[in-house]
Amino acid sequence: MADAEHYEAVVVGAGPGGAAAAATLARNGVETLVLERGVDAGSKNVSGGLIYAEESAPYTIDTLFPGFRGAASERPVTKYYLHNVAGDRVKTFDITDLHEHDTEWSDAVLRRRMDSWLSPAGR
Ligand SMILES: Cc1cc2nc3c(=O)[nH]c(=O)nc-3n(C[C@H](O)[C@H](O)[C@H](O)COP(=O)(O)OP(=O)(O)OC[C@H]3O[C@@H](n4cnc5c(N)ncnc54)[C@H](O)[C@@H]3O)c2cc1C
Repeated sequence: MADAEHYEAVVVGAGPGGAAAAATLARNGVETLVLERGVDAGSKNVSGGLIYAEESAPYTIDTLFPGFRGAASERPVTKYYLHNVAGDRVKTFDITDLHEHDTEWSDAVLRRRMDSWLSPAGR
């Protein structure tokens, strides 16, 4: 056992949840190991989505990870329309107000790039 590695915490999975937990533990001086089953953080992802920074939330992803928006997101989403297509007709609903409810900002993200940047190796 002389060569065994010892850590105070082990986080399984380098998704946003694991990355946030690991970063918070490490910033508080806890020696942390992150285990990710993909070849690297983010590699299991094939899609993306929207990240919302809620005004009422105690913290947001860019408070946990300063520089997040510039480095890991694709673009801000400032308008939100729903297009309902039926045959050759389109009905468009402007739901920007709904999108902006309790929202400080919202960005489109690609999870492969985002998760990769959130990992300690990516920053
Ligand atoms: C189709 C879809 C669309 C979504 N769209 C949005 C959206 O637009 N905006 C939004 O905020 N949320 C969205 N979500 C929800 C969001 O993806 C999850 O809330 C978020 O990914 C949860 O993060 P997590 O870190 O807990 O888990 P995950 O992101 O699932 O990360 C888990 C990580 O653990 C790794 N792992 C799993 N098992 C093991 C193991 N045994 N050993 C080692 N590593 C392991 C995986 O490879 C992965 O990297 C969407 C979800 C789905 C399915």
